[in-house]
Amino acid sequence: MAAVDIDSNGVWNSGKRRVDLLTAKLPIPEKIIVVNDEEACLFLVQANEYIEFCPECRNKLDDDIILLVLETVRLLPAKCCNRMMWFVE
Ligand SMILES: [Zn+2]
Repeated sequence: MAAVDIDSNGVWNSGKRRVDLLTAKLPIPEKIIVVNDEEACLFLVQANEYIEFCPECRNKLDDDIILLVLETVRLLPAKCCNRMMWFVE
């Protein structure tokens, strides 16, 4: 799953199919597993309300970049550098 393939509504376009991430369980990378190896996405927010600059490339986050809020982790699909960034709160 590439960050650039996730739109601002939380829909992942794989090229073959569209998956609404808000109705799917997402696999959590092994290095940050907290409780489960997959979590439901609860809701999404506009990322720049919480994070002003991309942690990777330091660009200001555009309005169409979202932050997905899962059960115990957050996922930032950073389109600016096409990275999936995971955060544990
Ligand atoms: Zn970036």
